[in-house]
Amino acid sequence: MTSVAFIGLGHMGAPMAANLVKAGLTVRVFDLVPQAMKSLTGLGAISSNSACGAAAGADVVITMLPAGKHVRSLYLGDDTSKGLIDVVAKGCLLIDCSTIDAMSAQLVAKSAAEKGLDFVDAPVSGGTAGAAAGTLTFICGGTDKAFEQAKTVLGNMGANILHAGGAGAGQVAKICNNMLLSVLMVGTSESLQMGIDHGLDPKVLSEIMKVSSGGNWTLDKYNPCPDVMPNVPSSNDYQGGFMVDLMVKDLGLSQEAALQSNSSTPMGALARSLYVNHARQGNGTRDFSSIFEQFTNSQQI
Ligand code: NAD
Repeated sequence: MTSVAFIGLGHMGAPMAANLVKAGLTVRVFDLVPQAMKSLTGLGAISSNSACGAAAGADVVITMLPAGKHVRSLYLGDDTSKGLIDVVAKGCLLIDCSTIDAMSAQLVAKSAAEKGLDFVDAPVSGGTAGAAAGTLTFICGGTDKAFEQAKTVLGNMGANILHAGGAGAGQVAKICNNMLLSVLMVGTSESLQMGIDHGLDPKVLSEIMKVSSGGNWTLDKYNPCPDVMPNVPSSNDYQGGFMVDLMVKDLGLSQEAALQSNSSTPMGALARSLYVNHARQGNGTRDFSSIFEQFTNSQQI
């Protein structure tokens, strides 16, 4: 039976690790916040006193952490502590599912390879609902061999396991996707509000645009206008879902990537600016579809 170490049990990591336990794998868990391990041990996971303790002896290590600095220090260690790459068994597969900068992912992959270890960057799409349902999309970067190995274990947590290319490619594809998503969310919001300002019913307008050339994922699955769609954050005061602060982080990553490649991303830059402004107005922990409210209070002329 495959034994997995799962490190980082936040909004995403906890339900993902729960699906591995439910699939019958032996799962050792660790989070800096001991309370975060409780729901997992209740399901049958084994708690550990440290990340290295969880990872030693595991066949696969999976991490789900906030940002690149957490991933770098956990895998590579520092002056005072060993990194995961120093303690895992020979042949252990390392998979990081956090959304981080591609350069950090490439650095960890290179350091792991120097120790004979395979590392896959595998950021996810699908949010907390997809994590709970086991229907996430994993967007992977790494060698063909490592990807094939990762596919088996990731299949317990996701519906789509995709290979974007070599080390870091999963992170690049993920931030391209989220940059596009933010642009679609802003565009859908301003279009719906302009229709409302002209007396249209947002439900009717949404149905029209869904089957017309403006149709997109936000209209199909995540309408930002309250009470157009049931069971989405906009119909629940923008609670749950994907936080504005995380979208700000991802858009920051997209603009750093654009600088590195000298790519022109005017829509992504504008979306970042709108989301930063929205977060500064106290909306950081609300769902990212709350950007709709930036368009609702405009003055009539
Ligand atoms: P979170 O803040 O809820 O969870 C992160 C967890 O990591 C926390 O429990 C924290 O205590 C733990 N942690 C941090 N450093 C650690 C360390 N050194 N050792 C052990 N545990 C450590 O974040 P989240 O919402 O679960 O997101 C995780 C990642 O997934 C982020 O990179 C995010 O951008 C990405 N993501 C999130 C969503 C979402 O909807 N929340 C969707 C897609 C991708």
